[in-house]
Amino acid sequence: MKINMSMVATGLFSLVVLATHAGITVAVGHNGNDEATPQFTFKNVPSPTASNAAVAAKFVIVDGQQDPNSGGIDRLHDGKLPVGEDQPEENFFFNAGTSGGRFQVDLDRIISIKRITSYSWHPGERGPQMYKLYASEGASEVFNAAPKRGTNPESCGWKLIAEVNTKSKDDHDNGGQYGVSISDPDGVIGSFRYLLFDIDATESSDNFGNTFFSEINVIDANAPAVAEIEPAQTTPPETFTFTTVDGKCRITLDTTAAPELKDWAKQKLAPVLAKWYPKIVAMLPSKGFTAPTHYTVIVKPMAGVAYTQGTTVKVSKKWIHDQINGEALGSLVHESVHVVQQFGKYGYGDRAPVWMVEGTADYVRWFKYEPQSHGADLVYLRKVGKDFRYDDSYRITANFLNWVTEKYDKNIVVELNAAMRQGKYDDDLWKKYTGKTVQELGEKWKKDTEARLAGNS
Ligand SMILES: [Zn+2]
Repeated sequence: MKINMSMVATGLFSLVVLATHAGITVAVGHNGNDEATPQFTFKNVPSPTASNAAVAAKFVIVDGQQDPNSGGIDRLHDGKLPVGEDQPEENFFFNAGTSGGRFQVDLDRIISIKRITSYSWHPGERGPQMYKLYASEGASEVFNAAPKRGTNPESCGWKLIAEVNTKSKDDHDNGGQYGVSISDPDGVIGSFRYLLFDIDATESSDNFGNTFFSEINVIDANAPAVAEIEPAQTTPPETFTFTTVDGKCRITLDTTAAPELKDWAKQKLAPVLAKWYPKIVAMLPSKGFTAPTHYTVIVKPMAGVAYTQGTTVKVSKKWIHDQINGEALGSLVHESVHVVQQFGKYGYGDRAPVWMVEGTADYVRWFKYEPQSHGADLVYLRKVGKDFRYDDSYRITANFLNWVTEKYDKNIVVELNAAMRQGKYDDDLWKKYTGKTVQELGEKWKKDTEARLAGNS
């Protein structure tokens, strides 16, 4: 089969006809970050509609994993659209660190399909769409409704309808909103019951190449004229996106659930992260690693303080209020270390023990970002005054890491962080870098610390 590609860019919108295959036309609408609106209006692609056959269809993941930050597969046909450029919960996307997956759409009966449209929205590399679309009546004897990757759908009763790739050739400025319309100008795409989307990640230089798919429409040629869809929320999100001082990362602050904190986020938090994210990236390098180039901090009502999953940081609204002149900023510097660490693939476990993950984040926070707060040094240890263990996590481990850095190896934090990122952390590494086991170091640090505390009291 021959796929013809041509590209025409027209001002703010780009009109891209990507694939014609057996009379099928793929039209791509793109609104850049500054043009995108919750209406998903494109020059050459219809806006999403609520009256379409996908709404009542069944969507199932056939291969691949959903990202835990995603709103789930049913976001694709709930008739609702995200109203902002970075709303993980309003979109569906495959898991961080994976290269896409497959999902199947069961329309419940064979329908004559006039058009299939897919919509996506993200400020960075998760905006563009790359997929192959297959369709089937489901009637063939060899039909496999859920072929995993590795199985060519064409070998089990599916027909390739279109191949989509909306990335720009010069590989920059891919962010924004996309609408991909697949149709046959001469009539209908065909009569099918099942659709199979074989989704690729748009890039693999970091873990965040899986597209934020917002909605999928399937237009029945015999259904009455379609109605316009309304954006999901009537209140626009309160987000503020800025670029770090080195120009390499965009950070979005989402205070939709805490509008009273919008000014604080903009005036206090943004300058700290703009300055410190690049510093943290520089502090924790490893071979072949590129730190995320976009992340989001969402302030919301929740239990606890804050946590980071992939490139999404969630922080408690109450915590920020309580700590606005205390730990609020420092805790988000700590979370930004987790964004840079990116141990997601290995999770917490032997390869990235929780005490080291948290100890490293607190080391950066208390010894680099705010040493003047004395949150993990001798002043702090004197206050907590307990039986110190090197693997106590957070501030205590931070103190231990600082001690080993000063006494034995100034690169120990970098080396161990790199090992954790690569899934290669092992307690034996301490011996390799310092000549002592971590237990020996822990004992020496404890004795030394106790002596210093006694001497300084
Ligand atoms: Zn943490």
